[in-house]
Amino acid sequence: MFDKILVANRGEIALRVIRAAREMGIHTVAVHSTADADAMHVRMADESVCIGPPPSSESYLSIPSIIAACEVTGAQAIHPGYGFLSENANFVQIVEDHGLTFIGPTAEHIRIMGDKITAKDTMKALGVPCVPGSDGGVPTLAEAKRLGEEIGYPVIIKATAGGGGRGMKVAQNATEMERAFMTARSEAKAAFGNDEVYIEKYLQTPRHIEIQVFGDGKGGAVHLGERDCSLQRRHQKVFEEAPGPCITAEERARIGKTCADAVAAINYAGAGTIEFLYEHGEFYFIEMNTRLQVEHPVTEAIFGVDLVQEQIRVAEGHPMSFTQDDLVINGHAIEVRINAEKLPEFSPRPGRITQFHTPGGLGVRMDSALYDGYTIPPYYDSLIGKLIVHGRDRNAALNRLNRALGELIVDGVDTTVPLFHALLQEPDIQTGNYNIHWLENWLLTNL
Ligand code: ADP
Repeated sequence: MFDKILVANRGEIALRVIRAAREMGIHTVAVHSTADADAMHVRMADESVCIGPPPSSESYLSIPSIIAACEVTGAQAIHPGYGFLSENANFVQIVEDHGLTFIGPTAEHIRIMGDKITAKDTMKALGVPCVPGSDGGVPTLAEAKRLGEEIGYPVIIKATAGGGGRGMKVAQNATEMERAFMTARSEAKAAFGNDEVYIEKYLQTPRHIEIQVFGDGKGGAVHLGERDCSLQRRHQKVFEEAPGPCITAEERARIGKTCADAVAAINYAGAGTIEFLYEHGEFYFIEMNTRLQVEHPVTEAIFGVDLVQEQIRVAEGHPMSFTQDDLVINGHAIEVRINAEKLPEFSPRPGRITQFHTPGGLGVRMDSALYDGYTIPPYYDSLIGKLIVHGRDRNAALNRLNRALGELIVDGVDTTVPLFHALLQEPDIQTGNYNIHWLENWLLTNL
């Protein structure tokens, strides 16, 4: 058992981990930059250590400072949350070299899935269906053009080191290929220091369906169904739900088993998400995230599990607390991401919160690190809270979301809350009739 863990993150996800640990009787250490000295995660943890100046590169991404914070406080394990160092294989290696435990998968699994070409090859070999595309990296424009003809336009050029929706370009035809290929490469080089790209068939009207998996690291694994995260802006999710409105129980059981078997076969440990595009009844693997996802609470709501406590338990070497048969879906859950951003351009709006009131009542969960008088610093991402609702069915969840959004008060900064009020009025949202392009198209004429 761990006595003390260090949370290498900030904001709502740091709170999420601290809460899980406290319920397990585990002490917590928060780390923070000088800009976050009065942040909620620092107040809520048992201890805190300042690890550097405001820029993430000198604080939340500073591996030596985080290791030193563990040594000073005697923390035995590190939970990375999402973002920052959560998918950094090098960090995991260093953590282990210092005799500490990383609460997550092995460095090797993170490395495999962090390189999207290797990830796709691995998944294909494990029987997971993939998007048709190039076999590995595409080094030259001539090769890219040949593949465009072979796969059939439109195609998408993607960075093998990609993430956060960057380094992706669509080519509708051979003429567009030159520009798309060159831009994708230079964006990939600038963003990830690696200009290797690969090519996939561009699916025109898919939904984004992801499967939550969980492994014990010893060849045991389960799936916790799907989340539909098709409502995206610039490839970033804004509204997520579980179960997916268009996925049948048979489809869930089939793709879920494929995913659970795949991660069991590699002895995967902890939480993971296998992302698919879903079109005309077929699943196409796009990537695997080897960490807790922002949208994990919708899965927790419908299965009644605590994924963070489960991560900690497995990292301690215990077996998982549930089997596949224990995991039965109850109702429907929706999460909306509340960002400090000004609509319609979604420009970041850090600043002082003059009033904050969270909604409550049956089936409502608000994960947020805000408080009255808190000043959102300008250095980090604009996510300030996640509102998660759970109801007996999708319609009940939608009504509950509408009610909860009405109770929420965030004064002092602009937020994305008005977007969700507007979306709830849309017949397509009410019926679940949307794909990955729906929101971008809607935004063109509605905000
Ligand atoms: P990242 O790691 O940068 O988020 P992903 O591979 O997860 O990149 O893709 C992010 C989003 O980009 C997907 O949810 C989807 O909207 C779009 N996308 C990716 N690959 C394809 C494809 N082959 N066809 C159509 N859209 C795609």
